[in-house]
Amino acid sequence: MQEAKGHMPDTDSVPDVELLVREDKLKLLFRQSFPALFISYATALLLSWMLWGHASEVVIVAWLAMLAVSTLGRLAVFIIYFRTRPSGVDLLKLERRYGFSLMLSSLIWGLGALLVMPADSLLYQAITLFILVGMAGGAVSVYSARYPMAVGAMLSVLLPSTLWMYTQAGKEQLGLAVGASMFMIAMLRTAKVMANALQVNFQLSRELHAAHAAADQQAKTDALTGINNRRAFLDHGEQITRYCERHELEISAMVMDLDRFKSINDGLGHLAGDNVLRHVGELLLTTLRRSDVCGRIGGEEFAVILPHTSGRDALAIAEKLRQTIAETPIPCGERRLDITISIGVAAGAYDLTTLLVHADKAMYRAKAQGRNQVVRYEEAFVA
Ligand code: GH3
Ligand code: MG
Ligand code: MG
Repeated sequence: MQEAKGHMPDTDSVPDVELLVREDKLKLLFRQSFPALFISYATALLLSWMLWGHASEVVIVAWLAMLAVSTLGRLAVFIIYFRTRPSGVDLLKLERRYGFSLMLSSLIWGLGALLVMPADSLLYQAITLFILVGMAGGAVSVYSARYPMAVGAMLSVLLPSTLWMYTQAGKEQLGLAVGASMFMIAMLRTAKVMANALQVNFQLSRELHAAHAAADQQAKTDALTGINNRRAFLDHGEQITRYCERHELEISAMVMDLDRFKSINDGLGHLAGDNVLRHVGELLLTTLRRSDVCGRIGGEEFAVILPHTSGRDALAIAEKLRQTIAETPIPCGERRLDITISIGVAAGAYDLTTLLVHADKAMYRAKAQGRNQVVRYEEAFVA
């Protein structure tokens, strides 16, 4: 049973769309980039294999070892993510670790590739740059959900070797450097477009979701008092009745109607009447338990379903409520209005309609007996 649902329609605080979008993007990032861990290391092995014998083997082994350590570090971040499935602040904390480990491993990739690239072989320089361009392009597509990460990873991988090529004398190296630069410029723009598209997509979906939730809540709320309207009351009441039946718990109902309410409208106007209804709604909220379901079921009629409550206890609660309302004058401009209420109580059935019909009959009996009183339904009552 969802206790918090009783009093009012679900009143979840307005969601922070910006935060939710950030969470969505991070989740996508984690899911999308997991294979990149292994592909990135496999690519380093492939490049090392091709350069083996043409570059310093010590440097190659040292580079692979450092990459292995940074890859394990990144793997640890992924394991934390997949095992704990964090959200909110915890997810944002993990984002920092993710970003840091990504940047470290991209820099090891980019600077290491520059170190293993043979200074005297244009062919192997071209091969290395070819691999780096592929890695940089992959980074932009995999990390596109977070623009700074996509750009940071792409530049860390490709920029060191490209800058080194600019410092070389050969026109082929200059050509390679210019080509890599043009690729980076194109990728900067691509990363921006992709990041924006994802942002808009996630934002629209979250806003739509929030609008849906708000409309849903509005449809369940009585606009004047803020408590359940008739439909929501009956829906929640039905759920609570089923729950009590399943768990063999007692259940009671109250139907209440303000006494001589018409005279307030006639004497002081509808706005004063509305004000009284609002106050009664507030009194119900402050007097009843959170697990009780209350609603405004008609003009000046309210009803309550009390789960796990015997008829006798419901009678006592109704009496307390009647007294509170009778003893709490409601401010109305300069004046304070004394309001009374008649309440009917029923128990002993796992059928919402029966409970409400019985409580209604008891309420009319309370009216007939002089108002401002609580009456419990008896089988002997005639309609
Ligand atoms: P009783 O003690 O027999 O219940 O008398 P009563 O005057 O309360 O009963 P009656 O049913 O004759 O009047 C109910 C009044 O409630 C009539 C209607 O104008 C008023 N009413 C219904 N809904 C609203 C509302 O939303 N705002 C206001 N201000 N008045 C309402
Ligand atoms: Mg009335
Ligand atoms: Mg009435």
